[in-house]
Amino acid sequence: MKACVLHAPALVKMDPLRYEDVPVPQPARGEVLLRIKVCGVCRTDLHVIEGELPPRKSPVIPGHQIVGIVEALGEGARRFAKGARVGVPWLHSTDQTCEYCRSGMENLCDHPTFTGYTVDGGYAQYVVAPEAFVYPIPASFPDEQAAPLLCAGIIGFRCLRLSGIKRGGRLAFYGFGAAAHVAIQVARHWGVEVYAATRGENHQRLALQLGAVWAGEASAEPPAKLDAAIIFAPAGELVPPALMALKKSGVLVLGGIHMSPIPTFDYNLLYQERVIRSVANNTRQDGEDFLRVAAEIPIRSNVTLYPLQDANRALNDLKTDRVNGAAVLDCA
Ligand SMILES: [Zn+2]
Ligand SMILES: [Zn+2]
Repeated sequence: MKACVLHAPALVKMDPLRYEDVPVPQPARGEVLLRIKVCGVCRTDLHVIEGELPPRKSPVIPGHQIVGIVEALGEGARRFAKGARVGVPWLHSTDQTCEYCRSGMENLCDHPTFTGYTVDGGYAQYVVAPEAFVYPIPASFPDEQAAPLLCAGIIGFRCLRLSGIKRGGRLAFYGFGAAAHVAIQVARHWGVEVYAATRGENHQRLALQLGAVWAGEASAEPPAKLDAAIIFAPAGELVPPALMALKKSGVLVLGGIHMSPIPTFDYNLLYQERVIRSVANNTRQDGEDFLRVAAEIPIRSNVTLYPLQDANRALNDLKTDRVNGAAVLDCA
């Protein structure tokens, strides 16, 4: 099969992925083999490819927002029929035995595997995944619309949940890429008033089109005090201005897997029971709940499609803010 393979981490401007022939993987016990239709490009892929996340498998095929068709079943796999359309997310598997798994926090598992990082992912024509960790894709979503839901969507949904935001509340997004442009649709569906602080006029315009009541620069002060804020941009310097925008007891959620250092700030910004918390991965329950809500709304993503062999170009466009919404690779 064809795949875009990372042999050693490097800046994406060096075009580090090599488009080459590799063997089709074989499904092990409990796994399904998927023929990949599309794979979303996520900011986490940038962190893997540029080495901000320490290499865990090399070479590795990145990509963890995979939509594919079940082509073969490993021994004992019987959850899906051949021909079913399913999605593979970032959380590839957990040990299901550690204290976190046993207490409903499998997103924090001590021994997880991650798609496109510790195991090969979806910048390819085929992939294998444990059947217990893949999602049926609601029929109403075309392939390329489903891909951005699988990480940007699910993680954004978990961020919304952990922000504690309620109907009629005020919420700001810092950074308005793939995750925020999906999460705003859920927030609006819940009757939340949304503010968007983000660099780039394109992203600000998209936020307003999707129902934000205000859009400004990344560290600009929103015109109202907020119940909650979510930082999707990997920029630690946004933490103090985001805290400053919160009401007493407001919650600041950090949605990224990687962030530049957070500058020191005055305790007054945190005092009055303001909360900062990170979000790590997601549980399968988050994914199932989100896909149901996404189909109800229904979520519409702004998608830019790239051929599989142009993965380097997609990553460069993402890094330089030239993707408005979500980038998706066409792998078929
Ligand atoms: Zn575990
Ligand atoms: Zn992701």
